[in-house]
Order: sequence, then C-alpha cells, then structure tokens
Amino acid sequence: MFKLSRYVAILIFAAANSMATPVAPPLELVVLGSGGPGATGRAGAGYVVLVDGEPRILVDAGPGTFVRLGEAKLSLAKIDTVLLTHLHIDHTGELPGIFKARVVSGGGPIHFQVFGPSGHHGEGEDATFPSTSRFIDLLFGPAGAYSYLHDFAAPMTIKTTDIDASTNASKSPTVIHSEHGLQISTIAGHHGDAPAVIYRIDYRHQSITFSGDIDAKGLDNLRHIAQHSSLLVFNSVVLDPPGSPRVLYTLHTPPKAIGVLAADSQVKRLLLSHLSPTIDQARASVEASIREHYQGPVAFAEDGMRLQP
Ligand SMILES: [Zn+2]
Repeated sequence: MFKLSRYVAILIFAAANSMATPVAPPLELVVLGSGGPGATGRAGAGYVVLVDGEPRILVDAGPGTFVRLGEAKLSLAKIDTVLLTHLHIDHTGELPGIFKARVVSGGGPIHFQVFGPSGHHGEGEDATFPSTSRFIDLLFGPAGAYSYLHDFAAPMTIKTTDIDASTNASKSPTVIHSEHGLQISTIAGHHGDAPAVIYRIDYRHQSITFSGDIDAKGLDNLRHIAQHSSLLVFNSVVLDPPGSPRVLYTLHTPPKAIGVLAADSQVKRLLLSHLSPTIDQARASVEASIREHYQGPVAFAEDGMRLQP
C-alpha cells in the first residue's frame, strides 16, 4: 500500500513538474529594432530568432539593436547565424558591437556564418555597394577596422556567403542552411540600387519570412518564397500613393500592395516593422488599406516584442 501511494505521488509530482516547465515553441521572434534610418525612438532593423527556445539567428543589426539585445536578456552563447537583408546602415550599423558582445559573453571559440547580398558596382546615379564578404572583410578581416576582434576574449572565425542579388539571380528560393529540420532559404529582393535579399526560416511546420526593405520589383520573388508562411515580417515605410514622397516608392512597398501580397502568399500572420513615423501616425488607414485584400491578423512591431509564429 505504502509503495503504491508513493508511486502515485511520484507520478503526480512528475506530471505537475512537466506542467510547470512549458515546452519552448519551435520558433520565436524577438524584435530588437522596429524602426528605420531616422532617430525616432525605435532601434533600426534587427531581430533574433529563437529555435526551440534558444537564440540562434540574428536577422539584421541596425543602430540601437545592441541595447535592445541586452534589454531582452537573451543569451548570446548560441547565436551563430547572421542574415543580412542588405547593407544599408539602418540594417548593419550595430554589427561590430553585437559581435564584440558575443565575443566577451564567454564560452569557447566562436564560428559565425554570415549571409548577405552580393555587391553592386554603381553606374550613373546608382551607388556602389560591396559584397557582404567584402563588407565583413572591411570590418573584421586581417586589414579590417576591427581585425583585433579575431582573438580578443575568444577566437572568432567568420564564414561569409554572398547571395546573388543581381537581376540575373535565380527566381526560385535557394536553401542556404539545413540542420536537424531547421531550414533557411533565400531569394533576391529589390531595394532600389541596394542589393537586397529575402529570407525564410522553416522549422517544425512553422516559418518566418523577412521581406527586408523591398520595392515593387521584388514582390514576385517575395510572393514566391513567402507562400503559406506562418509569419511575414514586412518592412513598412510608405503610405499608399500619393501619400509619401515619390522617390520612396522606388525603395518601399505601400500598404495596399502589402495586403495584396500577404493575401496572394496566403501567409497566416503579418507583422509590419521598420516603421516610419508616417506609418505610425496613420496606423488605422494603413491597416484598413491592407484589410482590403488580406484578412489575417496584422500587428505593428515594437522594439522588444516577442512573437510565436
Ligand atoms: Zn531600411
């Protein structure tokens, strides 16, 4: 009798214990920066994706994301993959600070894998952009500005992969990382003259797609890669025409087109991020415009926001 009740007690204890420690979701998104280039009180673009509860993937690293990373109290110990959507400052300016934070966070040797767009030699009014490997080399390479970081608190190596973001790039998604069911795929985006890349992360039947900054010329590729995503993070900067300066439509996608794309791609949920003050001040009309075509949940990002797709 005593043995039986003791056995029952152990079972009850085990059940209560398993209820007390919830299982981590397959994927979770932490918004480090929900803003753009302006100093508006939001950090520039940046996200951390948690896989099985472990912070693993950094997507962009705009100014201010360093502070938000600390505020989120996320462990840096397993962050080893960096996805850069393009190399504008509001998406990459904080990379050195975050890399150094990772280096001094303790633990053994650090092996980063960094993905980002190929380069572009500007002609005429187009700007020139280095490839991501050249960009990383200029920062952390042997002759780079921060070459000392290679052996500062821990040995650090960086493997950089340039993703073809040219007009000749593949119109089909390419898998760039695959590991125990975690899959990262990419396709070229379009952001004016800045080479740009779209990313999709899939894990255990959940998926997050990041549009990056994108104009109308990138939407076919985005529609393709975002199909049935659990969550689409869409950078939202301009109002429907003619509500914003004309030049911005060569760089960004307005709300009505965002709604059309979200509906066409059949994404389950939409998160508007990289928010400009213009969008912030017109949330009701922005959402109404998106709702003309898309009926799923729509949210506006905030720094520090955590979401399960
Ligand atoms: Zn931007």
